[in-house]
Amino acid sequence: QCITHCPTGALTERDETEKVWNAIADPEKIVVVQIAPAVRAAWGEELGLSREEATVGKIIDVWRRLGADYVFDTSFSADLTIMEEGTEFLQRFTSGELKDRPMFTSCCPGWIRFIKSQYPHLVKYLSSAKSPQQMFGAVMKTYFAEKLGVSPEKIYTVSVMPCVAKKSEREMDLYHGEYVGHDVDAVVTTRELLRMIRAAHIEPSTLMDQESDRPMQEGTGAGVIFGATGGVMEAALRTAYYLLKGENPPADAFQAVRSTGFNEHQGVQEAVFQVDDVTVRTAAVSGLGNARALIDKIERGEAQYDFVEVMACPGGCVGGGGQPIHDGEELAFERGKNLYYLDKNADIRYSHENQDVQKLYEEYFEKPNSHKSHMLLHTEHMKNK
Ligand code: SF4
Repeated sequence: QCITHCPTGALTERDETEKVWNAIADPEKIVVVQIAPAVRAAWGEELGLSREEATVGKIIDVWRRLGADYVFDTSFSADLTIMEEGTEFLQRFTSGELKDRPMFTSCCPGWIRFIKSQYPHLVKYLSSAKSPQQMFGAVMKTYFAEKLGVSPEKIYTVSVMPCVAKKSEREMDLYHGEYVGHDVDAVVTTRELLRMIRAAHIEPSTLMDQESDRPMQEGTGAGVIFGATGGVMEAALRTAYYLLKGENPPADAFQAVRSTGFNEHQGVQEAVFQVDDVTVRTAAVSGLGNARALIDKIERGEAQYDFVEVMACPGGCVGGGGQPIHDGEELAFERGKNLYYLDKNADIRYSHENQDVQKLYEEYFEKPNSHKSHMLLHTEHMKNK
């Protein structure tokens, strides 16, 4: 089943738990962990925890018990991604650069690999924004390292991801002053996390909700829905609307890009958003077969969009190749509903209202798409790399 779920074709998962145990045991290393949105929707399935019990706060408790020094929630950097990618989209859209083809999201490594091999001439339409995993790694090794007064080499970054392909994505380089290294040092999948919990004999019923660390603590509902197909687009539209209009849309104004099933519209959800005389045509698609069908339609001129989200796994990251596997059962859309529930009940549902992200800009990056943001939070996608 992993084979069908893993768009990278990685038949065996590269186990990185040993590296993480070693880093935790190394007194020279400061181990800094991030937990992706989709992990919270699935990790409790094999531990007998109900959806309500399996919170991200308890995963934070797990990592503190395992010995991590700092634990963060990737929904923080999902909000940061929206600030960068939403701003980039509006710049490219208003400059006329997207007249012929849409801008494509860039946070799914399975999709990046696919477009590079199958549609190399479209690579230039990918957003240059790094994924939330990579952005957080870069922020940890620069801004956070400076806050702690240590060099980036001392920081060992670990991400907990629903995704096998994130293990290759993490090899992306980071250049910062004299430091040349990786944004992220190790990726453990949700399944590897479960193995670590068992190896450490942590009894799930004893876990308590804990808050993530400061100063990158806040995450919004918009950041949480990154884990479900359509979530990146919906979060981006909430902020793009605000950037154009100067006021928030209703938080659920773009729910047309959500998907509730595999075969619905061949996995494509569309939404058109209008602000005064500006019309933006968007689509979100999951599953690479569906993505191929959509791109072929765009190439034949049968469909026009300005902004397209693609997720390689059907249902998005909640159905990722690193999540628990239940033979014959497909839980991606059920897990997605869990993330939408968390968004609905979040205090803040707009990425641009994340106060810790705002502070990061004030103290470090200045503004979205600044020179420093481009150096640390963006990448150049090459056709053949
Ligand atoms: Fe990984 Fe998510 Fe892309 Fe699947 S959809 S390959 S889990 S990033």
